Amino acid sequence: MAQNLKLYINGEWVDSSNPEMQDILNPANQEVIAKAPKATKEETEEAIKIAKSAFESGAWSDRTPQERAKVLLQIAEKMEENLDELAELEMKNNGKTLREAQSDAADAANTFRYYAGLLDHPSGVTYQAIEDLQTMIVKEPMGVAGLIVPWNFPLLMSVWKIAPALAAGNSIILKPAEITPVTAVKVFELIDQTDLPKGIAHLVMGSGSVVGQTIAESDDVDVVSFTGSTGVGRNIMQAATGNLKKVSLELGGKSPNIIFDDADLETAVDYALFGIFMGSGQVCSSGSRILVQEGIYDEFVAKYVEKAKGIKVGPGNDESSQMGAIVSEKHMESILEYIRIGKEEGGNLACGGSRIQRDGMEKGFFIEPTVFTDVTSDMKIVREEIFGPVVAIQKFKDEAEAVRIANDTEFGLAGAVFSEDQNKAMRVIRKVRAGITWVNAYHLTNVQAPWGGYKQSGIGRSLGTYGLDEYQETKQININLDPKPIRFFE
Ligand code: NAD
Repeated sequence: MAQNLKLYINGEWVDSSNPEMQDILNPANQEVIAKAPKATKEETEEAIKIAKSAFESGAWSDRTPQERAKVLLQIAEKMEENLDELAELEMKNNGKTLREAQSDAADAANTFRYYAGLLDHPSGVTYQAIEDLQTMIVKEPMGVAGLIVPWNFPLLMSVWKIAPALAAGNSIILKPAEITPVTAVKVFELIDQTDLPKGIAHLVMGSGSVVGQTIAESDDVDVVSFTGSTGVGRNIMQAATGNLKKVSLELGGKSPNIIFDDADLETAVDYALFGIFMGSGQVCSSGSRILVQEGIYDEFVAKYVEKAKGIKVGPGNDESSQMGAIVSEKHMESILEYIRIGKEEGGNLACGGSRIQRDGMEKGFFIEPTVFTDVTSDMKIVREEIFGPVVAIQKFKDEAEAVRIANDTEFGLAGAVFSEDQNKAMRVIRKVRAGITWVNAYHLTNVQAPWGGYKQSGIGRSLGTYGLDEYQETKQININLDPKPIRFFE
């Protein structure tokens, strides 16, 4: 029997007044694993109101950083005790492989540890720029933080926001994606077992147009941090204009992975596979455009296609699966439509291209690793984010052309360069207009480094000290060291 999930408001698990529930599916087999509430506008507003008054009470915002760090460490510990369950739930709800879900769960717990550690360091700046005036620059919490997350990394994206927002001393409202709320519920069950004061953290499930929109519009929300598609990001920004709340956006991408003739071919092929097929390509930073220099183009393509064909697609709980399911039927259909368009607009379908419905995968949403070669920059499959296991390989002549093609996109999230010539690799990576980049690698990153994009891939940065800054106000305090009248009007 699928569990009925509840909203977490003011430290209590409550049903929504809306009797309609959303079936939460395992995309590997369409089993209903839970039923989620669809909160109303009024319930969302209620959570925001409570979060605001809890913030103003000072119960959390006035605690010292060290006291807040203790609670963050409690959450990290609870998560570490429950890593297996978190990974299992994430795999079941999102469709990713257990290996990927385990890595996400460990990263999520580590994110709380990292921010707890950051709080333990003295922060702020003090200096004297004017005689007898000591200036201090301090950081303060903003108030109520609205956190809106997508379905591709339901656990990790939630934690990337919850940990720094709480670390900074804010109250939070988390809104998971409609179809993947399960691990967020587990995280709040764990938070409930810690010393975080009641009323600081709320979990409100429901639709983007009701719950998400209410958060983005609310005059009582001080910062909205959104991860999702560029289109919805634009809506959020508009909705946020009412009270000019701070907006942080982590959006889509169409990231270039540039392979030069002098790259180590085996390494380049390997990372270029990992770059797009990890997470079934449902990763914002995916290297979905591979640009290969003409001298090794044919050899690269031959090796790449052979390896892509060998990737074992299957249910997350099958240890032999290397690539999991697509998150939903709707999203699978959208990816298949892009593949159809790619063929129509003249891309050469070198492998894949179809849904897989065999060997126990009949009811699941699985797509073959799909490779288009000989594509051109004007094609839709090269310009638009497909967000699936579909990669487009393009040929280039020289360094200048590689940079031009790489930057010929409205996005600027990620990018990589493969070359044994470190000088060239550095020159080129510095020219790639993107926030997350690699030389001779792809997808490797860490909690200390800022995560975010240039251009229409977003505004602001998650993680590291930068991620904490997103949830803080900055104040200058000027102290007169020799108080006496200034006599300006005498
Ligand atoms: P989405 O934009 O459809 O939804 C994201 C969240 O926004 C969901 O919780 C949704 O309910 C909510 N939402 C929808 N309409 C809303 C509205 N009008 N107001 C407020 N909230 C609303 O994105 P998705 O399909 O869940 O996720 C895929 C997208 O996320 C891709 O474009 C991907 O690139 C992007 N993404 C970016 C990053 C990053 O760090 N840059 C990370 C992961 C995913």
